[in-house]
Amino acid sequence: MAKITLQNVSKQYKGGEIQALKKINLEIEDGKFFCLLGPAGAGKTTTIKLIAGVEPVDGGKIFMDDQEITDLLPNQRDVAVAFETYALYPQRTVRENLAFPLRAPMRKKEWSEAQIQARVEEVAKLLGIDDLLDRLPRQLSGGQRQRVALGRALVRKPKAYLFDEPIAHLDAKLRHRMRGELRRIQLELGITTVYTTPDQLEALSLADQMAILNEGKIEQVGSPTEIYQRPANIFVARFVGDPPMNILRSEVQGEEVTLLGLTKLPLPAQIRSRLAAAEIERSLMVGVRPRDIKLVSPSSEQALLRGQVKYVQVLGETSILTIVMDSHEVRVKMNTQDAPNRGEAVGLNFAVQDCHFFDPRTELRID
Ligand code: ADP
Ligand code: MG
Repeated sequence: MAKITLQNVSKQYKGGEIQALKKINLEIEDGKFFCLLGPAGAGKTTTIKLIAGVEPVDGGKIFMDDQEITDLLPNQRDVAVAFETYALYPQRTVRENLAFPLRAPMRKKEWSEAQIQARVEEVAKLLGIDDLLDRLPRQLSGGQRQRVALGRALVRKPKAYLFDEPIAHLDAKLRHRMRGELRRIQLELGITTVYTTPDQLEALSLADQMAILNEGKIEQVGSPTEIYQRPANIFVARFVGDPPMNILRSEVQGEEVTLLGLTKLPLPAQIRSRLAAAEIERSLMVGVRPRDIKLVSPSSEQALLRGQVKYVQVLGETSILTIVMDSHEVRVKMNTQDAPNRGEAVGLNFAVQDCHFFDPRTELRID
């Protein structure tokens, strides 16, 4: 088990044309399930490759516990990696692929043949691939191959697991099951795990701690709850949470804020002092999550904004409504059984305590 630390780590490609990682700092605590969340191209795979040692850093240092590992070879790092692209040995059966890490020369004699077979079967069963053990990779579907790649990492108990979108190619149901299995295995073994995903729900449901990565930079680090409740900037606010947080262009005037140029909302003293401290004089971004908005009658005094239902997207028990007003759209998440019909006029109500405030110049959270 190990703590992993990245200090000012940079990586570039194409002779510096692409800055994949820009001096990132991370501290991944021992025994934690750590998710790296970010859109495609953010630098997630690059981070995993640098920790694994399959690519060199261009700047900065990497530590495992207090040992610097920046220049160690991959096999000197005692990490097990599963990449999104499976890289299985094509001429070897699933059984042989799974057994491979246990037979590595540096681990000779650690495992008897009987122990290897038992461990391979145990992991195969766990991942639901025990009936595929005698097949070759080309005789498997993408999702099956991905599970073999994951299994090849899980057969060992290294200091850290590095999983790069390890279940991206499974169908929704299996992905859900695998998430649960991975979390259970990790809790059982207590092995430090770095797990990348572009799926915010996956990160929120798996992580002890998470980092949001965007264009090679860390936007925020925290627990899922901290990040959801107090997003550090507009990017995180919109990336975490589904559908994304509504961001309303607003203007502060004295004790009130005008939302979208349409309606005035009184600002409590505590929020006004926060805005003053941030030197917000006029322009402000007000964020409100779709599930923090209540629908009320458009004629009600409680209606802060009024609009018309443009779309209703039913997702089983909940529905996502798109409400239009002037040239703006606001999304609302609510119980399907209470949802209005398309075309209906509605009023929107929300509490100022549920609003998030951002500085339009820096896009940073204000508080
Ligand atoms: P993610 O895994 O978050 O999608 P990556 O770490 O794969 O992102 O990529 C980060 C950036 O680096 C992207 O702009 C990607 O195109 C670029 N990149 C990654 N690998 C290479 C490479 N081998 N050569 C050139 N550019 C690369
Ligand atoms: Mg990737």
